[in-house]
Amino acid sequence: MASPSQQLPPGWAAQWDANNQRYLFIETATGHSQWEVPAQGPAAPIDARSTSPPSHTAHTKRRQYASGQTQAYYGTGDGFVDPQYGSAMPPAGPQQGAQLFTPGLAAENQFAAQQQAQGQQPPYYQPQGEPEYINAPGYGQQPAYQQQQQLAGVTDQFAQMGIAGGQKPFSLYTTNLLTAPPDPRELLRPPPEIRLPPNACITTNPLANADPSYQRSTINIVPTTSALLNKSKIPWAIVITPYRSIKEGDQPVPLVTDTVIARCRRCRTYINPFVQFIDGGNRWRCSLCSMSNEVPQMFDWDQERNQPGDRWARAELNHSVVEFVAPTEYMVRPPQPTVYAFLIDVSHAAVSTGMVATACRTLLESLDRLPNEDGRTKVAIIAFDVALYFFSMPPGTTDSSMLVVSDLEDVFLPKPTDLLVNLKEMRASIEALLGRLSEMFQESHTVGSAAGPAMQAGFKLISPMGGKLMVLSSSLPSLGPGALKNREDPKILGTAKESNLLQPASAFYKTFAIDCSRAQVSVDMFLFSSTYQDVATLACLPHYTSGQTYFYPAFNAAKSEDALKFAHEFGEVLAMPIMLEAVMRVRASKGLRMSSFHGNFFVRSTDLLAMPAVPLDQSYAIEIQIEDTLTAPFVVLQTAILHSTCTGERRIRVITLALPTTSNLSEVYASADQVAIATLLANKAVERSLSHKLEDARDAVTNKMVEILTTYKSSMTAAGSGASAQLAICENMKMLPVLLLGLLKNVGLRQSAQIPPDLRAYAQALLTSLPSQLLVPYIHPTFYSLHDMPPEAGTVGEHGVILPPPLPPTSEHLKRHGLFLIEDGQTIFLWVGRDAVPQLVMDVFDLSSYEQLRGGKTTLPLLDNPFSQRVNAVIAKTREMRRGPYYPHLYVVKEDGEPPLRLWALSCLVQDRADVMPSYQQFINQLKDKVNGSSYS
Ligand SMILES: [Zn+2]
Repeated sequence: MASPSQQLPPGWAAQWDANNQRYLFIETATGHSQWEVPAQGPAAPIDARSTSPPSHTAHTKRRQYASGQTQAYYGTGDGFVDPQYGSAMPPAGPQQGAQLFTPGLAAENQFAAQQQAQGQQPPYYQPQGEPEYINAPGYGQQPAYQQQQQLAGVTDQFAQMGIAGGQKPFSLYTTNLLTAPPDPRELLRPPPEIRLPPNACITTNPLANADPSYQRSTINIVPTTSALLNKSKIPWAIVITPYRSIKEGDQPVPLVTDTVIARCRRCRTYINPFVQFIDGGNRWRCSLCSMSNEVPQMFDWDQERNQPGDRWARAELNHSVVEFVAPTEYMVRPPQPTVYAFLIDVSHAAVSTGMVATACRTLLESLDRLPNEDGRTKVAIIAFDVALYFFSMPPGTTDSSMLVVSDLEDVFLPKPTDLLVNLKEMRASIEALLGRLSEMFQESHTVGSAAGPAMQAGFKLISPMGGKLMVLSSSLPSLGPGALKNREDPKILGTAKESNLLQPASAFYKTFAIDCSRAQVSVDMFLFSSTYQDVATLACLPHYTSGQTYFYPAFNAAKSEDALKFAHEFGEVLAMPIMLEAVMRVRASKGLRMSSFHGNFFVRSTDLLAMPAVPLDQSYAIEIQIEDTLTAPFVVLQTAILHSTCTGERRIRVITLALPTTSNLSEVYASADQVAIATLLANKAVERSLSHKLEDARDAVTNKMVEILTTYKSSMTAAGSGASAQLAICENMKMLPVLLLGLLKNVGLRQSAQIPPDLRAYAQALLTSLPSQLLVPYIHPTFYSLHDMPPEAGTVGEHGVILPPPLPPTSEHLKRHGLFLIEDGQTIFLWVGRDAVPQLVMDVFDLSSYEQLRGGKTTLPLLDNPFSQRVNAVIAKTREMRRGPYYPHLYVVKEDGEPPLRLWALSCLVQDRADVMPSYQQFINQLKDKVNGSSYS
């Protein structure tokens, strides 16, 4: 039957009657209702306000969104972001008249507007300034220039074939790595633009295609064949951060509340901005499989206002990221409540270092921050050392009683009720318990850890519902199931056997993880040991249950910095909203297949990823294969995460990404996203280091770079397969070698016989879960010169504190009289040159001379002088600008101070030579030799 979106006479509303499966028409003034469509009165829209396309507001919003987005995502101040980045958006399209959906008409208007918008959009990748391009006119590289012209000819021809329509081809700018040093500002650029053919998208909304902070692809134009993709040597994957945090200035994800969910009946794709409406708007053609589907009857009905709605205003047709409230058929049970079981180590090591006191205090202070909008959140506290201590909190009292279980082999719950209690109802009991827990075990001299049995107990307690196990542990689990042995052996560090230490030592952790995943239980690990704790094995649980590992080696709360860091990060994790009982699946256009999955989850069936709890800002990489030749001008990838919110609602978050296709290799290169490639390769390298050797993992990274460079040279430059005095790569991949060099030098992969296995394992956990925004500094640290920073740096600008311009991470920039900041998102170093003038030392540290300054973990004083305030502002901004719960420690490093600390700081300057690892220049030369000497063609 006809949808009531067609115009009704003034004063009439239509209401879907589910019992009769038809519309009831109501005269709103009189309340009279009838089944017949009321006679058409004067042709006027019912309510111009609700039906006019949101073109104006949408563009205004976009303006704010884009700059906020760029700002928050790249985490920069307005100090060094090219203002052009934020403003590279299409101008507002022509104003459309207020109208209801008229088949054909509205869409045509929108297409026209889109074409116009595309035509005026400046390319993202316009090179800044006048860099030297090998193939730029006048450079003297005649053969290369000619080739470029030929390529341009090919693309013109391609465009004339009508495949690309008016789509602008990507221009390939080739640069010579030998003479073009990497500029860290390049890393702040957005990925190459996605240039869809006209008419690909049914909306002009600039938010219709994926925001890279949610989903980005290693290539932004897809080769039509697997052979062409293989030829490029660029691995194709999407990097997904589906549950990205919303920072100030970010737009929240639009929510579709009417439970009208249009999905393709063949491939189950959710309706999105890249479908086509056909049959007078009554059907839609799936953008993945081309199936023609019926438009649901209520699709054009505004349930909130109870009147016809504007189809074109629906969020799922305008936004790449959207969330649906799911109806009951998406539930196998009512949405679970948010449940936390805190498993707190109370052995001597845990109590004496102040971990227990800090944890209890933070938890106590964070009770209001725990997600609990629906009042259903449940909490349990279990303490453990060589036994398990349960706390029963019966209703009607604020007292709790402790129940001790010392049978560790066959763990049981000592009481069927009152161990897991409602946070709101039992708030007083929980507060009282947290207030005295640390004291209760103050005198403990117990050594040993029944962490495994504690986790089994926590599992027994929460598995009927699902939820989070938060394990806070200060030593190696030594008792009961899951007990581990100290396998740290300095002799095998740096040898082929080292990777054994990075694999789980006991099958318990894998099988327990699978049990957890099945029962919707996710594990977070907070680890504090001063000695070997086997992080590699323990991190297995968060890895397979979509949790996270946090590591505070040699934690000591007597150092206020240690207490502050842990309290901050634990507090952030507690306050974090989480997606519960989630499953994620990526669907893609016909001819594409998800081939491998990287990140913290468990692959339940071929492509269904089970995630008992999705934390904010965790990243996943999924590789894609081209199985059949792609004939469509663009392909669509759609990630859907079915989950329960921590407010008890079942929802589906859908992220849609459309990418154009090409048969032109140069376009593939020109569209490559070096940051996404580095993110994928970090994941793959860590996995390879576990299945093979660390050395193999490093070789694989280098070989991938060599393959790309070799193919690029032979197919995109005049040198072909012959030797070349240059090392050519396209401008948009110019930072890839330095990113990969940084990856090779990261603690997780670095060639060294000195890295404790726990530190390595923790670094690997970060490399495989950090979103690109945090991963980039983690492998390519940020380096600022502070003593001579520009006057505006460290002051507050339009977008918060202005940061100094970043320097390339090499000690060539260190000055003996200077003050520098080096940071990787996890640790901040304040480097003080040995000839620092007394005034600088006085201004920053309140000390009369460099000699009085002591290196190490510190809290910088905030002094009554502008320089101190600016330095403090830069540090504060560095700590808060990125997503994620991390609160980096600050270390003061004296140029002539303790060697281990100096070396640690210097190891962040990844362009320098370090031990056996090459400098950037050496690395580039090695790459060049391999490219010239290799047999690829
Ligand atoms: Zn379909």
